[in-house]
Amino acid sequence: MENIIVTGIRGLPLIKKGDNIAALICEKVSMEDGDIISIASTVYSKAEGHTRALSGIKPTERATRLGKLNGEDPRFVQAVLDASKDILLEQPFIMSELPWGHIGVRAGVDQSNIDDGMVIFLPPDPMKAAKDVRERIEQITKKKVGVIITDTCGRSFRRGQTGHAIGWSGFTAIRDFRGDTDLFGHELKITEEAVVDEIAGFANFVMGESNNGVPAVHFRNCPKWTGHDNLYFSAAEDITRRLLKAQCPK
Ligand code: GDP
Ligand code: MN
Ligand code: MN
Repeated sequence: MENIIVTGIRGLPLIKKGDNIAALICEKVSMEDGDIISIASTVYSKAEGHTRALSGIKPTERATRLGKLNGEDPRFVQAVLDASKDILLEQPFIMSELPWGHIGVRAGVDQSNIDDGMVIFLPPDPMKAAKDVRERIEQITKKKVGVIITDTCGRSFRRGQTGHAIGWSGFTAIRDFRGDTDLFGHELKITEEAVVDEIAGFANFVMGESNNGVPAVHFRNCPKWTGHDNLYFSAAEDITRRLLKAQCPK
């Protein structure tokens, strides 16, 4: 098996609404079948115009109350509430579920790497975002690649943020080891590896968080895997979500 080669894609401009991320990336990278491109959700959202000016947001009573509680601009809080389907934690920060299944702090709404007074939302349908970028890359290069849209997210139980996959296309999210045997012949009963998050994590490391200007990362020679796409627990399976919801005021 060949070594995996990971390359940050440098020299991309400051992304603005209307930019074609796929085309810009293809100008910088020569693609091969099987390559994987990881793209920061921030730049996808800027290109697609999933941003808002705080000045145009009128906070509701709840946003005003939570803004006071958490020491945040109530207009920013309103943006977070607008992006959320269900609030699971109100303080010391909002944790909420998004319409497409992701649960995260402040609904992934960012105020960094954009002009003052603007907020960036996560893409409204990150799976479609990944598929669209993958298809556009294929149109341009005739190569079949995989695409992951990432965001930097906090985790339960551990300090520190890591890159998470919020959308993917060209492979499954999970590599399923169940039924496989280990080196000693024991059958694996529960191991499902969230490969897309592992790749997103390393991509995030290459991107950095601040002013690196590396919003996309290219992977070559990743092994293939098979599995499934049920990355998110169902409501019935998700113990943490249930416990959070039980303590959250309506
Ligand atoms: P997020 O993890 O999706 O919220 O995105 P970040 O704000 O952490 O940015 C990830 C990487 O992309 C960092 O290296 C940023 O410097 C870079 N980045 C963000 N916006 C742009 C942009 O418009 N152009 C370029 N070239 N890089 C950007
Ligand atoms: Mn982010
Ligand atoms: Mn980040």
